[in-house]
Parts: sequence; structure tokens; C-alpha cells
Amino acid sequence: MSRLRVVVATRSEHKLRELRQLLGPVDVDLMTLDDAGVEPGLEPVEDGRTFGANARLKARFYAARTGLPTLADDSGLEVDALGGGPGVRTKRYAGEDATDADNNRKLLRELDGLPPDGRTARYVCVLVLALPSGPGTDRPRVVAETRGTCRGRIAVAPRGTAGFGYDPVFEPAVEPVDGRTFGEWTAEAKNAISHRAKAARRMGRRLVALAG
Ligand code: IMP
Repeated sequence: MSRLRVVVATRSEHKLRELRQLLGPVDVDLMTLDDAGVEPGLEPVEDGRTFGANARLKARFYAARTGLPTLADDSGLEVDALGGGPGVRTKRYAGEDATDADNNRKLLRELDGLPPDGRTARYVCVLVLALPSGPGTDRPRVVAETRGTCRGRIAVAPRGTAGFGYDPVFEPAVEPVDGRTFGEWTAEAKNAISHRAKAARRMGRRLVALAG
């Protein structure tokens, strides 16, 4: 039987390699949108109200365009003191063209003066696999959805330069208050407990079942 070929809703080779590793031992060929011939710039409007809704719409959108099984993710940060925000607005928290530094500054300002137990937060990642129901159709089916979370708290100031996004202000729950942020963790250590790693391991098991 031929290997399962799966499109990943990304143009980044780095993200593809990372996901390949995080999925664990599963016999699938992953390809980027470029590998699958999706024209540059073609992307859905991510207007879902939850991470799951955005991951589902991306997976369906590209499964319809490629006619191939497609994996998409959506991720972000939920801060308890902000009622679960910034949530689906994580990337654009400080504005449409916000940099990571802008977003971190705004977050620290919003939480200014809160004690450690008022600064609890979690990273969330949702991964979705959609199968095309036929070439060129617009009704692909979502066949698997997995979720991973990583609990922690928002530090009072940024520390470290590793990772990306909110990592310099995110202290994972295994650290003491004022301990190391993800910006001070190695990629290997973060990958052992991250929201993305947990969602991917769960998806890996679903793919094994589907590929088998
Ligand atoms: P996405 O590309 O729409 O999934 O947006 C995810 C956004 O959430 C990123 O731009 C980051 O700001 C943030 N984010 C998600 N995962 C992480 C992480 O592991 N570390 C730091 N920031 C993250």
C-alpha cells in the first residue's frame, strides 16, 4: 500500500520538520503548501471565534484546493485575568502589524501590578486533519481534531531570547515564580512539554490509525 501523503497548511520547511518530529513514529509523507502546488498568497480568512474553528477552516480550505488530506493548526495564548484573551487575537494583540515585542509590552502593561497567582495563562494548540471528499469539491470532512495545552504564568518582565512570540514572558508552570521563561529554555526541553508537542503526539496516534 502507498504511504499516506498529507499536506501541512504551512509554507515553512522549518515548521514542517518540527511537526514531522513531534508527530512521532507514523508512516506519512508530509508536504508544504508549496510542495502541493498551492499558489502563493492563497489563504483563507481566519475569522473563527476559537482556535478549533480557525484550524478547521484552514484544513478544509486547503484540502479542497489540493484534493489531499490536510493538517492545519491554530495556536495562541489564553490569560485568565483577560478572560481567556488574547485567544484567537494572540498574533495581532497589539495591532495588525504588531511585532512580538509590541505584543509582549501590551500584555505586561495589562497585567501590571497583578501578583503571581493573578497572572496564570496557558498556550493552546489545536490540530485538525481534513480529508477531501472528492477532487475540487468544497466540502472536505474533518476526521481528527486534537488539542494540547501548556500551563504557566506571565512573568513581570521579559527574559531570554529563545523561542518566539510570547516565550520571553511565559513562565511554564513547572518553574517557580520568577523562574526561567520559555525564552530561557532549550528547544528540546520546550518540545517535551509544549502545547504543540502534545497536540501533535495525539494527532500522530490518530494518523497511525488512519494510515494502518
Ligand atoms: P498562529 O500562527 O495563528 O497559530 O498564531 C500563533 C501566535 O500565538 C503566534 O504568533 C505567537 O504569538 C503565539 N504563540 C503560539 N505558540 C507559541 C509558542 O510556542 N511560543 C510563543 N508564542 C506562541
